[in-house]
Amino acid sequence: MLRGLSAFAFVNATQSIVIHIERKDAGKWRAATNYIPAMSLAVRLLGTSASRPTVERNVASVAIVREGETLLVDCGEGTQRQMMRYGVSFGLADIFFTHFHADHVIGVIGLLRTMSLQGRTDPLRIWGPRGAQRTMKRAEDFGMDRLTFPIQVEELDAGKVIGRKDYSIVTFPVDHRGSRSLGYALVEEERKGRFNPELARSLGIPEGPLWGEIHRGRSVTLDDGRVIDPSVLVGAKRPGRRVVVTGDTRPCAGTLEASRGADLLVHESTFGHEEHERAVETGHSTAREAACLARDAGVRSLVLTHFSARYSRDASDLLREARECFENTVVGRDGLEVEVGYPV
Ligand SMILES: [Zn+2]
Ligand SMILES: [Zn+2]
Repeated sequence: MLRGLSAFAFVNATQSIVIHIERKDAGKWRAATNYIPAMSLAVRLLGTSASRPTVERNVASVAIVREGETLLVDCGEGTQRQMMRYGVSFGLADIFFTHFHADHVIGVIGLLRTMSLQGRTDPLRIWGPRGAQRTMKRAEDFGMDRLTFPIQVEELDAGKVIGRKDYSIVTFPVDHRGSRSLGYALVEEERKGRFNPELARSLGIPEGPLWGEIHRGRSVTLDDGRVIDPSVLVGAKRPGRRVVVTGDTRPCAGTLEASRGADLLVHESTFGHEEHERAVETGHSTAREAACLARDAGVRSLVLTHFSARYSRDASDLLREARECFENTVVGRDGLEVEVGYPV
Protein backbone atom coordinates (compact mmCIF):
# COMPACT_ATOMS: atom_id res chain seq x y z
CA MET A 1 0.00 0.00 0.00
CA LEU A 2 1.17 3.55 -0.72
CA ARG A 3 2.16 5.53 2.34
CA GLY A 4 -0.40 8.12 3.21
CA LEU A 5 -3.13 6.28 1.32
CA SER A 6 -5.60 3.76 2.65
CA ALA A 7 -8.45 2.22 0.67
CA PHE A 8 -10.95 -0.58 1.07
CA ALA A 9 -14.07 -1.78 -0.72
CA PHE A 10 -17.13 -3.83 0.09
CA VAL A 11 -20.56 -4.53 -1.35
CA ASN A 12 -23.40 -2.85 0.51
CA ALA A 13 -27.02 -3.89 0.98
CA THR A 14 -28.11 -2.35 -2.35
CA GLN A 15 -25.46 -4.39 -4.17
CA SER A 16 -23.34 -1.36 -4.96
CA ILE A 17 -19.60 -1.52 -4.51
CA VAL A 18 -18.50 1.00 -1.90
CA ILE A 19 -14.92 2.22 -2.14
CA HIS A 20 -13.64 4.15 0.85
CA ILE A 21 -10.40 6.03 0.40
CA GLU A 22 -8.45 7.88 3.04
CA ARG A 23 -5.42 9.89 2.16
CA LYS A 24 -3.00 11.97 4.13
CA ASP A 25 -3.01 15.56 3.00
CA ALA A 26 -0.75 18.07 4.71
CA GLY A 27 -0.47 15.79 7.71
CA LYS A 28 -4.24 15.27 8.03
CA TRP A 29 -6.26 12.22 6.98
CA ARG A 30 -9.08 13.02 4.60
CA ALA A 31 -11.74 10.51 3.66
CA ALA A 32 -13.84 10.03 0.54
CA THR A 33 -16.40 7.37 -0.25
CA ASN A 34 -17.32 6.37 -3.81
CA TYR A 35 -20.20 4.17 -4.86
CA ILE A 36 -20.06 2.02 -7.99
CA PRO A 37 -23.48 0.72 -9.01
CA ALA A 38 -23.96 -3.04 -9.17
CA MET A 39 -22.88 -4.95 -12.28
CA SER A 40 -25.40 -3.97 -14.93
CA LEU A 41 -27.35 -6.56 -16.88
CA ALA A 42 -30.13 -5.76 -19.34
CA VAL A 43 -31.96 -7.36 -22.21
CA ARG A 44 -32.99 -5.23 -25.18
CA LEU A 45 -35.53 -6.63 -27.63
CA LEU A 46 -34.59 -5.63 -31.18
CA GLY A 47 -37.34 -7.50 -33.01
CA THR A 48 -40.50 -9.16 -31.72
CA SER A 49 -42.32 -10.36 -34.84
CA ALA A 50 -42.49 -13.96 -36.09
CA SER A 51 -41.69 -14.91 -39.69
CA ARG A 52 -41.85 -11.45 -41.24
CA PRO A 53 -41.58 -7.82 -40.20
CA THR A 54 -44.72 -5.73 -39.71
CA VAL A 55 -45.22 -1.99 -39.50
CA GLU A 56 -44.86 -2.18 -35.72
CA ARG A 57 -42.35 -4.95 -35.25
CA ASN A 58 -39.12 -6.24 -36.78
CA VAL A 59 -38.12 -9.92 -36.88
CA ALA A 60 -36.18 -11.79 -34.23
CA SER A 61 -33.16 -10.46 -32.40
CA VAL A 62 -32.33 -9.91 -28.74
CA ALA A 63 -29.34 -8.06 -27.31
CA ILE A 64 -28.06 -8.98 -23.86
CA VAL A 65 -25.89 -6.17 -22.51
CA ARG A 66 -23.81 -6.98 -19.48
CA GLU A 67 -21.54 -4.34 -18.03
CA GLY A 68 -20.90 -2.83 -21.48
CA GLU A 69 -20.44 -6.16 -23.24
CA THR A 70 -23.06 -6.97 -25.88
CA LEU A 71 -24.18 -10.46 -26.85
CA LEU A 72 -26.59 -10.72 -29.76
CA VAL A 73 -29.01 -13.65 -29.94
CA ASP A 74 -30.35 -14.10 -33.49
CA CYS A 75 -30.15 -11.50 -36.23
CA GLY A 76 -33.28 -11.26 -38.37
CA GLU A 77 -33.54 -9.00 -41.40
CA GLY A 78 -33.04 -5.35 -40.50
CA THR A 79 -31.42 -6.03 -37.13
CA GLN A 80 -28.58 -3.59 -37.80
CA ARG A 81 -31.02 -0.72 -38.17
CA GLN A 82 -32.76 -1.75 -34.96
CA MET A 83 -29.37 -1.71 -33.24
CA MET A 84 -28.80 1.87 -34.40
CA ARG A 85 -32.29 2.90 -33.41
CA TYR A 86 -32.07 1.43 -29.92
CA GLY A 87 -28.44 2.21 -29.16
CA VAL A 88 -26.89 -1.27 -29.28
CA SER A 89 -23.16 -1.23 -30.05
CA PHE A 90 -21.75 -2.69 -33.27
CA GLY A 91 -18.60 -3.37 -31.25
CA LEU A 92 -19.97 -6.70 -30.10
CA ALA A 93 -17.82 -9.83 -30.21
CA ASP A 94 -20.45 -12.59 -30.20
CA ILE A 95 -23.58 -13.51 -32.13
CA PHE A 96 -25.52 -16.59 -31.00
CA PHE A 97 -28.03 -18.23 -33.33
CA THR A 98 -30.87 -20.32 -31.98
CA HIS A 99 -31.54 -21.84 -35.42
CA PHE A 100 -31.30 -20.91 -39.07
CA HIS A 101 -34.83 -20.11 -40.16
CA ALA A 102 -34.74 -16.99 -42.34
CA ASP A 103 -36.46 -14.71 -39.82
CA HIS A 104 -33.60 -15.28 -37.36
CA VAL A 105 -30.58 -15.06 -39.64
CA ILE A 106 -30.90 -12.95 -42.79
CA GLY A 107 -29.90 -9.73 -41.02
CA VAL A 108 -26.39 -11.01 -40.43
CA ILE A 109 -25.51 -10.43 -44.12
CA GLY A 110 -26.05 -6.69 -43.83
CA LEU A 111 -24.59 -6.45 -40.35
CA LEU A 112 -21.32 -8.07 -41.48
CA ARG A 113 -21.13 -5.68 -44.45
CA THR A 114 -21.63 -2.62 -42.25
CA MET A 115 -19.01 -3.81 -39.77
CA SER A 116 -16.65 -4.22 -42.71
CA LEU A 117 -17.44 -0.76 -44.10
CA GLN A 118 -16.61 0.60 -40.66
CA GLY A 119 -13.19 -1.03 -40.98
CA ARG A 120 -13.64 -3.55 -38.20
CA THR A 121 -10.57 -5.70 -37.63
CA ASP A 122 -11.52 -7.51 -34.42
CA PRO A 123 -12.68 -11.08 -34.94
CA LEU A 124 -16.39 -11.85 -34.62
CA ARG A 125 -17.39 -15.09 -32.92
CA ILE A 126 -20.50 -16.74 -34.27
CA TRP A 127 -22.17 -19.58 -32.42
CA GLY A 128 -25.06 -21.77 -33.43
CA PRO A 129 -26.32 -25.31 -33.78
CA ARG A 130 -25.14 -27.67 -36.50
CA GLY A 131 -25.36 -25.93 -39.88
CA ALA A 132 -23.77 -22.73 -38.59
CA GLN A 133 -20.61 -23.19 -40.68
CA ARG A 134 -22.52 -23.65 -43.92
CA THR A 135 -24.97 -20.82 -43.26
CA MET A 136 -22.27 -18.37 -42.28
CA LYS A 137 -20.13 -19.27 -45.31
CA ARG A 138 -23.06 -18.30 -47.49
CA ALA A 139 -23.67 -15.09 -45.56
CA GLU A 140 -19.99 -14.17 -45.78
CA ASP A 141 -19.79 -14.81 -49.54
CA PHE A 142 -23.01 -12.99 -50.29
CA GLY A 143 -21.63 -9.46 -50.38
CA MET A 144 -18.78 -10.25 -52.84
CA ASP A 145 -16.09 -8.09 -51.18
CA ARG A 146 -13.94 -9.74 -48.56
CA LEU A 147 -14.70 -8.78 -44.99
CA THR A 148 -12.10 -6.69 -43.17
CA PHE A 149 -12.23 -8.96 -40.10
CA PRO A 150 -12.14 -12.69 -39.41
CA ILE A 151 -15.22 -14.67 -38.44
CA GLN A 152 -14.88 -17.62 -36.09
CA VAL A 153 -17.83 -19.97 -36.34
CA GLU A 154 -18.45 -22.66 -33.75
CA GLU A 155 -21.19 -25.28 -33.95
CA LEU A 156 -22.70 -26.18 -30.61
CA ASP A 157 -24.65 -29.07 -29.14
CA ALA A 158 -27.16 -28.78 -26.34
CA GLY A 159 -25.53 -28.77 -22.91
CA LYS A 160 -22.43 -26.89 -24.04
CA VAL A 161 -20.99 -24.44 -21.52
CA ILE A 162 -19.06 -21.47 -22.85
CA GLY A 163 -17.09 -20.11 -19.91
CA ARG A 164 -16.39 -16.41 -19.60
CA LYS A 165 -14.68 -14.39 -16.89
CA ASP A 166 -17.53 -14.35 -14.38
CA TYR A 167 -20.44 -15.88 -16.24
CA SER A 168 -21.18 -18.72 -18.65
CA ILE A 169 -23.37 -19.19 -21.68
CA VAL A 170 -25.12 -22.55 -21.47
CA THR A 171 -26.97 -24.06 -24.43
CA PHE A 172 -30.11 -26.13 -23.98
CA PRO A 173 -32.28 -28.15 -26.38
CA VAL A 174 -35.57 -26.70 -27.55
CA ASP A 175 -38.34 -28.30 -29.59
CA HIS A 176 -38.87 -26.63 -32.96
CA ARG A 177 -40.04 -28.76 -35.86
CA GLY A 178 -37.37 -31.40 -35.39
CA SER A 179 -34.56 -28.91 -36.03
CA ARG A 180 -31.43 -28.76 -33.91
CA SER A 181 -32.51 -25.47 -32.41
CA LEU A 182 -30.88 -24.27 -29.22
CA GLY A 183 -31.82 -21.91 -26.43
CA TYR A 184 -29.22 -19.93 -24.51
CA ALA A 185 -28.89 -19.20 -20.81
CA LEU A 186 -26.53 -16.56 -19.44
CA VAL A 187 -25.56 -17.79 -15.98
CA GLU A 188 -23.54 -15.59 -13.66
CA GLU A 189 -21.17 -17.05 -11.10
CA GLU A 190 -22.03 -16.95 -7.40
CA ARG A 191 -21.28 -13.71 -5.65
CA LYS A 192 -19.58 -13.10 -2.32
CA GLY A 193 -21.79 -13.10 0.74
CA ARG A 194 -23.10 -9.84 2.14
CA PHE A 195 -20.77 -7.96 4.49
CA ASN A 196 -22.32 -6.61 7.70
CA PRO A 197 -20.72 -3.19 8.35
CA GLU A 198 -22.85 -2.42 11.43
CA LEU A 199 -21.74 -5.61 13.16
CA ALA A 200 -18.14 -4.97 12.14
CA ARG A 201 -18.30 -1.55 13.80
CA SER A 202 -19.95 -2.87 16.91
CA LEU A 203 -17.23 -5.51 17.24
CA GLY A 204 -14.70 -2.69 17.12
CA ILE A 205 -13.09 -3.76 13.87
CA PRO A 206 -11.63 -0.58 12.41
CA GLU A 207 -12.99 0.47 9.03
CA GLY A 208 -10.26 -0.01 6.52
CA PRO A 209 -8.38 -2.78 4.76
CA LEU A 210 -9.43 -5.33 7.39
CA TRP A 211 -13.02 -5.11 6.17
CA GLY A 212 -11.91 -6.02 2.66
CA GLU A 213 -9.83 -8.93 3.99
CA ILE A 214 -12.77 -10.30 5.94
CA HIS A 215 -15.12 -9.87 2.97
CA ARG A 216 -12.71 -11.87 0.83
CA GLY A 217 -13.13 -14.71 3.32
CA ARG A 218 -9.92 -14.36 5.34
CA SER A 219 -9.65 -14.51 9.13
CA VAL A 220 -7.99 -11.45 10.63
CA THR A 221 -6.29 -10.84 13.95
CA LEU A 222 -7.02 -7.53 15.62
CA ASP A 223 -4.50 -5.50 17.60
CA ASP A 224 -6.07 -6.74 20.86
CA GLY A 225 -5.44 -10.35 19.81
CA ARG A 226 -9.02 -11.27 18.89
CA VAL A 227 -9.31 -13.44 15.79
CA ILE A 228 -12.31 -12.61 13.60
CA ASP A 229 -13.68 -15.45 11.53
CA PRO A 230 -15.21 -14.15 8.26
CA SER A 231 -18.35 -16.26 8.73
CA VAL A 232 -19.32 -13.92 11.60
CA LEU A 233 -19.50 -10.90 9.31
CA VAL A 234 -20.06 -12.31 5.83
CA GLY A 235 -23.26 -14.09 4.85
CA ALA A 236 -23.60 -17.13 2.61
CA LYS A 237 -22.58 -16.84 -1.03
CA ARG A 238 -25.39 -15.51 -3.17
CA PRO A 239 -26.41 -16.77 -6.57
CA GLY A 240 -25.64 -14.68 -9.66
CA ARG A 241 -28.35 -13.83 -12.15
CA ARG A 242 -29.72 -16.07 -14.87
CA VAL A 243 -31.23 -14.88 -18.16
CA VAL A 244 -32.77 -17.38 -20.59
CA VAL A 245 -33.66 -16.84 -24.28
CA THR A 246 -35.53 -19.64 -26.04
CA GLY A 247 -35.71 -18.82 -29.73
CA ASP A 248 -38.55 -20.68 -31.49
CA THR A 249 -39.93 -23.64 -29.60
CA ARG A 250 -42.85 -25.60 -28.26
CA PRO A 251 -42.91 -25.52 -24.46
CA CYS A 252 -40.37 -28.19 -23.57
CA ALA A 253 -38.36 -29.86 -20.83
CA GLY A 254 -35.11 -28.28 -22.07
CA THR A 255 -36.45 -24.77 -21.49
CA LEU A 256 -38.05 -25.76 -18.19
CA GLU A 257 -34.76 -27.09 -16.80
CA ALA A 258 -32.69 -24.18 -18.08
CA SER A 259 -35.17 -21.68 -16.65
CA ARG A 260 -35.39 -23.00 -13.08
CA GLY A 261 -35.13 -19.98 -10.83
CA ALA A 262 -34.20 -17.70 -13.73
CA ASP A 263 -34.38 -13.97 -13.14
CA LEU A 264 -35.69 -13.39 -16.66
CA LEU A 265 -37.08 -15.74 -19.29
CA VAL A 266 -37.56 -14.44 -22.84
CA HIS A 267 -39.91 -16.99 -24.37
CA GLU A 268 -41.48 -17.08 -27.79
CA SER A 269 -45.24 -16.70 -27.91
CA THR A 270 -46.22 -16.87 -31.55
CA PHE A 271 -49.93 -17.54 -31.02
CA GLY A 272 -52.85 -17.10 -28.66
CA HIS A 273 -54.66 -20.03 -27.12
CA GLU A 274 -57.34 -20.03 -29.85
CA GLU A 275 -54.60 -21.07 -32.28
CA HIS A 276 -53.14 -23.77 -30.10
CA GLU A 277 -53.41 -26.36 -32.87
CA ARG A 278 -51.43 -24.19 -35.23
CA ALA A 279 -48.80 -23.67 -32.58
CA VAL A 280 -48.40 -27.44 -32.29
CA GLU A 281 -48.24 -27.90 -36.08
CA THR A 282 -45.63 -25.20 -36.61
CA GLY A 283 -43.45 -25.89 -33.56
CA HIS A 284 -44.32 -22.72 -31.67
CA SER A 285 -45.87 -21.81 -28.29
CA THR A 286 -48.98 -19.99 -27.20
CA ALA A 287 -48.80 -17.18 -24.68
CA ARG A 288 -50.51 -19.35 -22.09
CA GLU A 289 -48.05 -22.20 -22.63
CA ALA A 290 -45.07 -19.88 -22.25
CA ALA A 291 -46.55 -18.41 -19.06
CA CYS A 292 -47.35 -21.79 -17.51
CA LEU A 293 -43.80 -22.92 -18.21
CA ALA A 294 -42.48 -19.74 -16.56
CA ARG A 295 -44.64 -20.46 -13.50
CA ASP A 296 -43.53 -24.11 -13.33
CA ALA A 297 -39.87 -23.12 -13.63
CA GLY A 298 -40.23 -20.51 -10.87
CA VAL A 299 -38.79 -17.65 -12.90
CA ARG A 300 -38.93 -14.10 -11.54
CA SER A 301 -40.19 -12.50 -14.74
CA LEU A 302 -41.27 -13.42 -18.24
CA VAL A 303 -41.05 -11.44 -21.46
CA LEU A 304 -43.03 -12.72 -24.43
CA THR A 305 -41.79 -12.19 -27.99
CA HIS A 306 -42.01 -13.56 -31.58
CA PHE A 307 -45.66 -12.74 -32.26
CA SER A 308 -47.62 -13.77 -35.31
CA ALA A 309 -48.47 -10.74 -37.47
CA ARG A 310 -52.11 -10.79 -36.35
CA TYR A 311 -51.04 -9.69 -32.84
CA SER A 312 -48.59 -7.09 -34.09
CA ARG A 313 -50.66 -4.04 -33.26
CA ASP A 314 -52.55 -5.36 -30.27
CA ALA A 315 -51.20 -8.22 -28.19
CA SER A 316 -53.44 -7.53 -25.19
CA ASP A 317 -55.25 -10.87 -25.59
CA LEU A 318 -51.91 -12.65 -25.32
CA LEU A 319 -51.04 -10.71 -22.20
CA ARG A 320 -54.39 -11.50 -20.59
CA GLU A 321 -54.16 -15.23 -21.21
CA ALA A 322 -50.52 -15.35 -20.09
CA ARG A 323 -51.24 -13.52 -16.83
CA GLU A 324 -53.90 -16.05 -15.93
CA CYS A 325 -50.99 -18.44 -15.52
CA PHE A 326 -48.09 -16.17 -14.55
CA GLU A 327 -48.68 -12.64 -13.33
CA ASN A 328 -45.22 -11.19 -13.85
CA THR A 329 -45.44 -11.28 -17.64
CA VAL A 330 -44.64 -8.50 -20.10
CA VAL A 331 -45.52 -8.45 -23.79
CA GLY A 332 -42.34 -7.51 -25.60
CA ARG A 333 -42.14 -4.68 -28.10
CA ASP A 334 -39.27 -3.56 -30.29
CA GLY A 335 -36.83 -1.49 -28.28
CA LEU A 336 -38.06 -2.70 -24.89
CA GLU A 337 -35.21 -2.80 -22.39
CA VAL A 338 -35.56 -4.98 -19.32
CA GLU A 339 -33.05 -4.46 -16.55
CA VAL A 340 -32.23 -7.59 -14.62
CA GLY A 341 -31.48 -6.68 -11.01
CA TYR A 342 -30.25 -8.95 -8.25
CA PRO A 343 -33.03 -10.59 -6.27
CA VAL A 344 -33.50 -8.89 -2.90
ZN1 LIG B 1 -38.97 -17.55 -35.96
ZN1 LIG C 1 -38.12 -21.01 -36.61
